[in-house]
Amino acid sequence: MDCKKAMDRYLALDKNEAVPIGVTLHLIACRDCRTAVRRMTEAEALLARPLGHESVAVDPAVAGALARIAAAGAAYPDVSGKNPVSLLKWFVVGSLLAAGFATVPFSFVGSWTRDVFGGAYVVPLSIVCGLAVTAYCGLFVGTNIDFFVKRFGPLSGPSSTATRG
Ligand SMILES: [Zn+2]
Repeated sequence: MDCKKAMDRYLALDKNEAVPIGVTLHLIACRDCRTAVRRMTEAEALLARPLGHESVAVDPAVAGALARIAAAGAAYPDVSGKNPVSLLKWFVVGSLLAAGFATVPFSFVGSWTRDVFGGAYVVPLSIVCGLAVTAYCGLFVGTNIDFFVKRFGPLSGPSSTATRG
């Protein structure tokens, strides 16, 4: 692979996309391309750094105006600490919930309920399990709606594919 082809393929990659093995081998072997890639990485890190000057929100006049807007109830809610529950925790708890409902009929509670109510307990238990799982799934989707929107895009027609990014 020559230098032009290697750099073209490298520059065509998305951010954080895996570098193809052919480009990697060229970068190992070619000092010029390796230096160019390193400089691009350094330039990107430099550009991604926050600017050195103070934010306009630190300005007392701007801060006072923002405080008055917040006091009037016209400000957007603070979302900095939004959604502290990770998807892994949701998945683990949901799995425990489903496993718990699946094992109830075989547990002491299940045998006691079977002794007292006979086989009629299966229908109310199934309804309670279904309602609990439905409520849990509703909470999961509702509190992670941002994830689902970014993952699956808007639910409108084919014109929405142009706005995905
Ligand atoms: Zn090269």
